[in-house]
Amino acid sequence: MKLILLGAPGAGKGTVAKLLTGLDGSVQISTGDILRAAVAAGTPLGKQIESLMKSGDLVSDDLIMGIMEQRLQQADCEQGFLLDGFPRTIPQAEALKKLLEKLDIKLDMVVNFNLEREVILDRLTTRRTCSNADCQAIYNVKSNPPKQEGVCDKCNSPVIQRDDETTEAISHRLETYNEKTAPLIGFYENEGLLLNVDAAGPSEVVLTAIKEKLAEAS
Ligand code: AMP
Repeated sequence: MKLILLGAPGAGKGTVAKLLTGLDGSVQISTGDILRAAVAAGTPLGKQIESLMKSGDLVSDDLIMGIMEQRLQQADCEQGFLLDGFPRTIPQAEALKKLLEKLDIKLDMVVNFNLEREVILDRLTTRRTCSNADCQAIYNVKSNPPKQEGVCDKCNSPVIQRDDETTEAISHRLETYNEKTAPLIGFYENEGLLLNVDAAGPSEVVLTAIKEKLAEAS
């Protein structure tokens, strides 16, 4: 599978991407995870983007395209990939189109996760993430808490609330999404690649809906 997962922060792209990877060995590529790992490791890139990410602003298109041009050429992408959180602006989508043409890669579909703002706000303020940059497992204090409070089920690292998941940062990220990312829905509709899914249900239900729509489309 070669998919773009499109949708507001908190729409469930990351959780569903993890389930999709189990289907055919496609790899999840989350630009947010890559950038958070750089911040956690204190690399020059991490230091450059730390405050920007904390406030919920986007990292520059050039920087993201540099990362993705390399990432998409790594061997594990040959089996397929699920782009989670990328592209996020029209210039990124245009640059990705050119990059995929250059690499002779054809996208199967762009899955758009539809979810109401109120549900998104509730999900993000109750979301918790594993602090281990190599794990970054996602939990929810209401619907999917870790077995032991504050401890990751997978790697035993502390489970925390992300800096960019304060109410203020979340509002800013949603504004940024509406302004910069939502126009991608029209972009991919014009490309004939858009597949809308209702993202309100549990992730397994969303996964089934995606599988059915992919089967219908193939
Ligand atoms: P996410 O985990 O996908 O919500 O990403 C967290 C943060 O990483 C965003 O709020 C941005 O600061 C940055 N980021 C992730 N992906 C991108 C992207 N494609 N373009 C620009 N900034 C990004």
